[in-house]
Formats: sequence, C-alpha cells, structure tokens
Amino acid sequence: ERGRLNRLRHTPAVTLDGQKVELLANIELPEDANAALQAGAVGVGLFRSEFLFMGRHGDMPDEEEQYLAYKRAVEGMEGLPVTIRTLDVGADKPLDELQRDAAHLNPALGLRAIRWSLSEPEMFRTQLRAILRAAAHGRVNLLVPMIAHATEIRQTLSLIDFARAELDNRGDVYGPVQVGAMIEIPAAALSLRTFLKYFDFLSIGTNDLIQYTLAIDRSDESVAHLYDPCHPAVLRLVADTISECRRQNKAVSVCGEMAGDPQFTRLLLGLGLRSFSMHPAQILTVKQQVLRADAARLEPWAREVVDSEDPALVMGV
Ligand code: PEP
Ligand code: MG
Repeated sequence: ERGRLNRLRHTPAVTLDGQKVELLANIELPEDANAALQAGAVGVGLFRSEFLFMGRHGDMPDEEEQYLAYKRAVEGMEGLPVTIRTLDVGADKPLDELQRDAAHLNPALGLRAIRWSLSEPEMFRTQLRAILRAAAHGRVNLLVPMIAHATEIRQTLSLIDFARAELDNRGDVYGPVQVGAMIEIPAAALSLRTFLKYFDFLSIGTNDLIQYTLAIDRSDESVAHLYDPCHPAVLRLVADTISECRRQNKAVSVCGEMAGDPQFTRLLLGLGLRSFSMHPAQILTVKQQVLRADAARLEPWAREVVDSEDPALVMGV
C-alpha cells in the first residue's frame, strides 16, 4: 500500500471533476521541511513555532536564533510557501515546568497563544521581526493563533507594523507577508465578518475548535469519548467558515487533525474546502481520497451530513 501511495507523490491533487486541491504540511521544526517535500506537500500550512521555545527553562530564543530557524524552514521548502504561526504556548503546550505547574484551574481558557504574546509585546515583536526577516528568503505567511477579539486583532496588526518600523530603523532587510488568523475559538467562527475584514487568509484549527465548542478538554482521557469532530455544532462552524470565505474570495484552509483524516476528506471537499494542512505522513492517503472524489457531487451530500442529527451515521464513519 505504501509503495502504491508513494507513486502519488508527484501526482497533482485534483478531483475527478477537475477541482485543484492544495495539500500542505504541518511541521514543528525547520528540518521537518524535508519530510514535507518528500510527501509531496505544496507548502507548509502550519509551522508550529512553539517547538523552538519549549523546554528551555525560561531561556527564550533571541531574534537571530529564530530568524535562522524560520529561514531554514523557508529555504528547506525550496520556494514553496511557508505559514509560520506565532507562539502558541500554554495549556497543552506549556513553555516549561513553570507554566505547566502554574495553578490555573482552566489553562486552556487562560493566558495562552496570542493572549500570552500580547502580554509580552517585546517578546512578540522579537518573533515578528524574525518572521519578517525570514520572509526575505521566500514566500511567508504569518498566522495568529487563538485570536477572538477585535481589540486583539488591531493590537496584533499594529505590533506587526511596529516590528516593520523597527526593521526599517535598523536598515534590516525583510519581506512581505500575508497575515492570517486561526479560527479555533467558536467566537471567532461566529464573528467572521471582523476576521474577513482584517486578515488576508484564515486557517481553521479543528483541534481547539472542537475542544471549545463542546467544552471537552482535548488532553483529558476521561472525556475523550465526547471529543467529537462530527458533532453538528462543530460541523456547522466549519461549514459556515468555509462557505463565507469562499463567498468573499478569502483563502481558507483547515490545519487541525480533521484535515489529515481520510474519513473527512470527502466531507470537507463537499463543503467547498480546497486547502488542507496536515502531518506529512497523511498527505498521500488524503491525496488518494481527493483523486477519487467528485467534488460537485459531494456538495448536496455534505450539506445533508451537516444538517443531520447524527452526521457520523450519515457519513458512515
Ligand atoms: C488546532 O487547534 O486545530 C491546531 C491546528 O493547532 P494546535 O493543534 O497546535 O493547537
Ligand atoms: Mg490550536
């Protein structure tokens, strides 16, 4: 099976009815770019930058170290686009023992991801400058995690402008970036208008979107049976986000686990999704599903799935 799949590496991901689909890789370290290329990814849809920061006992990578790491990922992708997500620490991704042990009752609802970055603006600007500088070496998109409020959006965008101004003042070289937001908090999915106004692209993080929509801790084994990607509420948020982006010609992808699960490929295609980002190991399996799918014919079926009381039953998963 692997051998047969491997032959699909250079086959473009196009549905039976001629719809082009973008299959991107999620990576955690610059050297993962290699696996992404090997798997035939047409870019990196999610570079989880937090892995450069974790387990360092409070010692943060400085601008130069970050710049070199991002540049390595960008160069590793040989001209293909790389979406670098700003730091997403806290909850399931503690920075260090200190953050792990911090006695917050609800760490997933606490000071994490963009909230943490906005509370440490100097650290955040250091990361932003490093990303902007790496963008001089290839196509870079900048992705903001866990953002929900209009004030957070405006603060983030003005810090990006500030970081550019700092580089201008220093006379440093940097490149253009598209700026996007993760849709992973239900409030974001329900206030898309604001997100569509400010961002160049959106990326749906189903892992957290499921956790927050269903109030199920994604790392708590005792409620894992209730962590359900097929809950109609989850599918509704995903479906509406995709269709609204398509209506407004805004680039949208899914970068949560759902994108790499072949059981969901047909559904997501039927909902209009044309960009999937996943672990490199899943790319060929998902591509096989894409090649066998007729996107137009999946549309009415996908609507039926989303509107049903028990989507998993209708999908047959
Ligand atoms: C997600 O939440 O779906 C996502 C892609 O981000 P992470 O899994 O890193 O939280
Ligand atoms: Mg997430």
